[in-house]
Amino acid sequence: MEKKELMYEGKAKKVWTTEDPEVVIVDYKDDATAFNGEKKGTIVGKGAINNRMTNHVFKMIEKAGVPTHLVEELSDRETAVKRVSIVPLEVIVRNVAAGSFSKRMGVAEGTALLCPILEFSYKNDDLGDPFINDSYALALGLATQEEIDTIKEYTLKVNEILKEYFLNAGMKLIDFKIEFGKDKDGKILLADEVSPDTCRLWDVETNEKLDKDRFRRDLGNVEEAYNEVFKRLGLA
Ligand code: UDP
Repeated sequence: MEKKELMYEGKAKKVWTTEDPEVVIVDYKDDATAFNGEKKGTIVGKGAINNRMTNHVFKMIEKAGVPTHLVEELSDRETAVKRVSIVPLEVIVRNVAAGSFSKRMGVAEGTALLCPILEFSYKNDDLGDPFINDSYALALGLATQEEIDTIKEYTLKVNEILKEYFLNAGMKLIDFKIEFGKDKDGKILLADEVSPDTCRLWDVETNEKLDKDRFRRDLGNVEEAYNEVFKRLGLA
């Protein structure tokens, strides 16, 4: 499968058209941004790690009954995926307080939550991805009730799969963000990525951060953390 035209360039990926109108190629970059693009940098090797890790995780999720957009890994940075229209919701799950939740709610980072939280942000960079609820999504036509129900069901299942997967590799899944798309028949598919860019992962013993917070917060050893996750998952 060959790349044809550059369709879209985002912060961490490029998307190319192919000869098949139903299939596009995602090309993972080493570029990193944070705080809505205000902070920019490079995490050497990140593109290959995120590509490989996302594909491995998506296969696992698919087996558990949640459909994904994955078609085929093409190279260390490139993957063929089904063309979807992205539902403009960032779907966030929290198992432990951190990041914007800790700030907003005044709850210390690392505080365990009594049950997982599922929240939505409206995917809109100009507005800084504002926090919204189901009513906003319905009233603005971002998704239908049926789509929201499916997205919630899939997301909670993904959380259970990922929590166990990371715990078996010595990491706590603190929180993560996923995105869904709709294929040409309107079917909801898990899309985008699952990687240290989109998950908070802490060492189970020491709580050492092994994710993009090392870049966001200038904690150092950024590449080392991505490589450590990759190694612990047996993907290196
Ligand atoms: N997240 C993401 N992309 C975003 C915002 C958040 O992948 O644009 C992930 C982030 O890595 C974390 C989770 O979603 O694992 C929750 O992030 P939070 O809302 O706490 O925002 P942050 O503190 O990252 O701004």
